[in-house]
Amino acid sequence: MEHIRQLVTLWARLRAIPLAVDAEDTITWKHTASGIYSATSAYSAQLLGLVSSPMGFAVWKAWAPPKMKFFAWLAIQNRVWTADRLERRGWPNCGLCPLCKQTLETASHIFKCRYSIRLWGLIKGWLKLDYLDISSWITMRSIKDCWLNMSNSSMPNRKAMASLAMLTCWTIWCERNARVFRHKSTLPSVLFSNIKSDANLWVIAGAKHLGQIMPGE
Ligand SMILES: [Zn+2]
Repeated sequence: MEHIRQLVTLWARLRAIPLAVDAEDTITWKHTASGIYSATSAYSAQLLGLVSSPMGFAVWKAWAPPKMKFFAWLAIQNRVWTADRLERRGWPNCGLCPLCKQTLETASHIFKCRYSIRLWGLIKGWLKLDYLDISSWITMRSIKDCWLNMSNSSMPNRKAMASLAMLTCWTIWCERNARVFRHKSTLPSVLFSNIKSDANLWVIAGAKHLGQIMPGE
């Protein structure tokens, strides 16, 4: 009975459609408005239903050298080799955070360590980033929340902020490595001047959004 019911329903729906016996069949491509196939639409069709990741904006599309993007990608996923991660595998590690020597080094700590907060304070003053709420980072548990907060959709100049986050976090990471592996330490004020000169080089090399928030010096 069910099959007969479906057949009758189909019959009723198709009755209004005239079929020209002599006409050739045509194929319509449903992924374009024109109904004509294009390679672009076929490619997009493969990505239907994908969830967009904030990593695209904050990392891959932001202006930064590729090695820093790769570092950011690892760091946001909590996959940089900090002491906690090395310890879990029983590998040699530095133990306490080399920047403040007070807390066990974890990826989420290192970028909101008091050393890093001081550095961000200097950057905030230099670029007049009044909208950057550094104190709110303390309550954020993961490095991902902290990092993505810097260029989230409510942030002004978010393209520039995505680049700045990468430059600053990379500089902090290099300072961490200099302390761990070469026993050399630098004050936040010195790191701040390094960031300023690097930012100028980035702008010359094409980081135009970063250039828009930088003061002319
Ligand atoms: Zn620390």
